[in-house]
Amino acid sequence: MDCIFCKIINGDIPSYTLYEDDDVKVFLDINPSSNGHMLIIPKNHTLDFDSIDRKTLNKIMDVASIMKKMVEDKLNPQGITFVQNNGSAQEVKHYHLHLIPVYENKKQKTVEEVFEILKK
Ligand code: 5GP
Ligand code: ZN
Repeated sequence: MDCIFCKIINGDIPSYTLYEDDDVKVFLDINPSSNGHMLIIPKNHTLDFDSIDRKTLNKIMDVASIMKKMVEDKLNPQGITFVQNNGSAQEVKHYHLHLIPVYENKKQKTVEEVFEILKK
């Protein structure tokens, strides 16, 4: 299937992976809105909010909670925004929950620099 996130799951495309289990993968967004902007995705290809099953959604929310705490500990943002786009607002047609840290003082780091901080 020609899905960029399925290719990331398969390992055909590299990613800065922060968390992975049987059902969920988390990696840094390649074009981040802020330091630590990450995407939380189901491993089974699923389109969007309407098609994702509740069990998987619950799992994603559990992982989101873990990742939120991790980012708060390591990057000290003043806030966290969650975004999940659908329809014409959704660029990549594989369900993903954005976790976007919010900072009062923006000093943009590279994705590589952020990964070094978060993977420790
Ligand atoms: P959407 O608009 O679909 O909610 O957002 C898609 C997100 O996926 C964008 O923030 C974009 O930067 C990110 N993205 C697109 N292609 C890749 C990729 O190959 N690797 C990673 N890590 N992120 C990607
Ligand atoms: Zn996919």
